[in-house]
Amino acid sequence: MMDDQVRRQLAENWRAVEIEVAGAAEACGRCPSEITIVGVTKYVDADRTWALVDAGCTHLGESRPQSLWQKAESSGMQVDVTWHLIGHLQTNKVRRLVGHHPIIHSVDSQRLLQCIADESAARELVTRVLLEINISGDEAKTGFAPEEAEALLEQLPESGIELLGLMAMAGWGTDRDEARRQFEATRELRDQWSQQYQLNLPELSMGMSGDFLEAIAAGATMVRIGSRLFEGVEPGDGS
Ligand SMILES: *Cc1c(COP(=O)(O)O)cnc(C)c1O
Repeated sequence: MMDDQVRRQLAENWRAVEIEVAGAAEACGRCPSEITIVGVTKYVDADRTWALVDAGCTHLGESRPQSLWQKAESSGMQVDVTWHLIGHLQTNKVRRLVGHHPIIHSVDSQRLLQCIADESAARELVTRVLLEINISGDEAKTGFAPEEAEALLEQLPESGIELLGLMAMAGWGTDRDEARRQFEATRELRDQWSQQYQLNLPELSMGMSGDFLEAIAAGATMVRIGSRLFEGVEPGDGS
């Protein structure tokens, strides 16, 4: 069960994050409405997830496809949210996932992209995707090396997907200045590729709780914020 205290805390956290994001946008001359806050709900149960939606967060991110579809299917569809899949996706999970019309941020192989395109086209869907770029070069990180992603742009699937842009995470243990340089490098790749391949790539998914200010300064249009939103909130009973 969830008491009013939890709801109040979530509403307060959401409001604080909204204000910080808007402030960061304005500080670099951007319009706050250019930035979508994806509330990363992987830390909490379905009740707390819906309480965050009640507080005003209509874009929800999950790392695991199973969690995404369990929550989406438990909602009874009363609420209008956009789901974002932000963690590694296996091809055998694609079919069930695409029915929830997610934005998939974590496309990290050509095989996965083709699978999303095929499963979507077979259901007459167009799934919105981003290519995950391993911008830090960390071996432990997922995502395409820049040159691999570039090779993919020359042979994108012709139906079933809409490529929106790029996603990146700062490397482990980077300080804020280094994180900002990595985010700027991601934006430069986007700018360069959209010109070179005549693609419209409006979205840059960059920035988490610890580095979203730097990401916004570097041009992020989607920030994926989890722990900041759930400060002072228990994860719940897993329902
Ligand atoms: C968990 C996660 C986030 C949110 O991270 P916080 O630091 O909790 O805000 C963002 N992006 C990805 C890919 C994640 O796995």
